[in-house]
Amino acid sequence: MTKRSNLIDGEWTDAESGDTFDTYDPASPDEVVGTYPESAAADAERAVEAAAAATEEWGSTPGPKRGRILSRASSILADRKGELAELLVREEGKTEREAGGEVQRAIDIFDYYGSKARDIGGKVKGASGADTVLRTKQEPVGVAALITPWNYPVAIPAWKIAPALAAGTTAVIKPATLAPGCTHAIAEALDEAGLPDGALNVVTGPGSEVGDTIASHDAVDAVSFTGSTGVGNAVYDTATADGKRVQLEMGGKNPTIVSDAADVGTAARIASWGAFGVTGQACTATSRAIVYEDVYDEFVDAIVEQADGIEPGDGLAGGDMGPQVTEDELEGTLDYVEIGRTEGATLETGGEALEREGHFVEPTVFSDVDPDSRLAQEEIFGPVLSVIQVSGYEEALEVANGVDYGLSAGIVTNDHHEANSFVEDIDAGVVKVNQQTTGVELHIPFGGMKASSSETYREQGEAGIDFYTISKTVYDS
Ligand code: NAD
Repeated sequence: MTKRSNLIDGEWTDAESGDTFDTYDPASPDEVVGTYPESAAADAERAVEAAAAATEEWGSTPGPKRGRILSRASSILADRKGELAELLVREEGKTEREAGGEVQRAIDIFDYYGSKARDIGGKVKGASGADTVLRTKQEPVGVAALITPWNYPVAIPAWKIAPALAAGTTAVIKPATLAPGCTHAIAEALDEAGLPDGALNVVTGPGSEVGDTIASHDAVDAVSFTGSTGVGNAVYDTATADGKRVQLEMGGKNPTIVSDAADVGTAARIASWGAFGVTGQACTATSRAIVYEDVYDEFVDAIVEQADGIEPGDGLAGGDMGPQVTEDELEGTLDYVEIGRTEGATLETGGEALEREGHFVEPTVFSDVDPDSRLAQEEIFGPVLSVIQVSGYEEALEVANGVDYGLSAGIVTNDHHEANSFVEDIDAGVVKVNQQTTGVELHIPFGGMKASSSETYREQGEAGIDFYTISKTVYDS
């Protein structure tokens, strides 16, 4: 069991009230994994004030020096990879393999932005006047409020903290209460790597109080939020009301189209990885397989075989698919199974909680799903795949685009022309051809369309730096 404090102005400190909350192992829910400060608005305000006071020192630290600190933090995290992956499994429920991959992603993100920090500054352009030096000057945006969800508790904090700090922007992060431990581990690594006091502050506690306080604070210039659409939209309204810039990454209802020009076995494997990997608890999880009628029956048989081959189990004991994060999330998935049944979809396999300790559920496949039904329209955030039959490309596209969300979308086809049309036609921020909807690279922009991101700033790659910097254009004669 670990006990962690807030990090405010370089001091590891308890909440002013002294209150704490615990986190629990989703595979053994009676086991406490960590204890954290149950902070209130006053703690969050102190953290924002510390970040604001640190802007001058951190913002004027040369990019290469900022980069060295991030690179050192990356090495420290690499030294602790096993320990961090174990914490991630125990606090959030991923399998060991998934957790190892996610920690490696955080290590790579700090490495990437460590080197990127050296390039931040601006660009020189040709000017009309011979004596003019025309250039852009990139400056830190100021103070950023970072609000993160539980489902990628080390990668998402890393992909907000690293570009903010690389840019010279200071930050306050409020991690999700279900799995905050990895954010503390990142802050410890940065502290040891030489980050000045106040450049990064960590405050745990309820979103409605701590999250809302940092997102609405006058001293905050930019808010980066990842989480559910309802909360994200509320954060957007609060933050933009006084002119803050906002980055929103929210839900998804991601489709994989299976064409009659696909190899059906390959398509089933791709859909299975996307639907059941990380227990379906990914914003980019495949939630709908939209299948041409000519290959529909074959695909249903193949995806059921894939689902039945997955053994749910404790991530530290070799399970293929971990538990859901809480009893409530498990109940939410089971509610959708019931909704699917009452809506007339066919339950092909799964649909039951496992009769063992922990929030485990079977990988679940529904066929004959009506594209307008709740099962096919609402984000489930559990390992449930809805298979929808369509006549061909036009109908598949209409169904794929016929939801509120637009985060990630895939097509499995060996027809290059069809794949190219899909890239043009689909309303999604991330488009996959012959790949699962999950999984993104860290050095290229990430974000969604429609209700998934509300067309706000992108994250990752250089887009990450753009969000945390502001540009001046300089004409110098
Ligand atoms: P959530 O919206 O419940 O919480 C996200 C964060 O917001 C948490 O830190 C929470 O404490 C905080 N919060 C809650 N109320 C707040 C308020 N009033 N003001 C400010 N902050 C507040 O989401 P979750 O359950 O942690 O995560 C699951 C959701 O996240 C899913 O909908 C999933 O699709 C989405 N998600 C999206 C992406 C993406 O990149 N698009 C990635 C991961 C998760």
